[in-house]
Amino acid sequence: MEVILAEHLGFCYGVKRAIEIARQNASSDGSSSTLGPIIHNPQMVERLKNEGVGTVGSLNEMDDGLVIIRSHGVGPKVYEEAESRGLELVDATCPHVKKAQLSAKLLSEEGYTVVIVGEKDHPEVKSIFEWTGHGAHIIETEAEAEALPRIGKLGIVSQTTFSGDRFQSIVSCLLEKSREIKILRTICTATDLRQAAALELAEKVDAMLVIGGKNSANTTRLAQLCATKCKTYHIETVAELQDEWMNHVNKIGITAGASTPDWIIKEVYKQCQSRA
Ligand code: SF4
Repeated sequence: MEVILAEHLGFCYGVKRAIEIARQNASSDGSSSTLGPIIHNPQMVERLKNEGVGTVGSLNEMDDGLVIIRSHGVGPKVYEEAESRGLELVDATCPHVKKAQLSAKLLSEEGYTVVIVGEKDHPEVKSIFEWTGHGAHIIETEAEAEALPRIGKLGIVSQTTFSGDRFQSIVSCLLEKSREIKILRTICTATDLRQAAALELAEKVDAMLVIGGKNSANTTRLAQLCATKCKTYHIETVAELQDEWMNHVNKIGITAGASTPDWIIKEVYKQCQSRA
């Protein structure tokens, strides 16, 4: 059996940067915490905890110390609240997410009704929404786009990890909704590259392993895309690999989400090779 890695997989620039910033600000006395898990990967969150970076669910849990904003970013109120509570704030928001936030803010200030194409419950999308002053629509499907009323001035931004094809398709539906439309496609290059490489590989192999947190939106999207081409298994760690998946398989492909650490990818790769 041949085991092939996707050309682009695993940690992206924004995640590497956020983890580096968190490590630089680790503390042995438990005073450093990220607001929400630093990335959607439980194994990495646990590792950082052991290195001196905890996690809080809200600023209310901190009386003092240092709070690290993760790559998904937050709305403007969090910066204000951290300051008023006297907390030190270190901002590890990915610059691509920052760009999406500021694009939405700018569109809103220019009088556009903002539509964010993305998942309503994703922290990054929530953060982009906050920067519009709560005046945006969040839509995830063509049906939701079609259900929108006509809009005078329509400004569109995207979740950075949204599927490029789906964005295009939803935008096509939105074109009917307004005579004045400004589209800021804020999908990041890392996402585009990982999705394109995963699809290309999924077309060539008998089965795909997609490695990454089950709570990771970009990993889940990779798994959905690969599943359109071949049998696909979404796993978090090597422990989930099953022998029977490799039966009668000549070629198996491996990809991983932008929040999947290298060491987990290597473990899966080695394990597959040992069965080759
Ligand atoms: S996927 Fe893109 S936007 Fe998200 S953290 Fe990585 S580089 Fe930044």
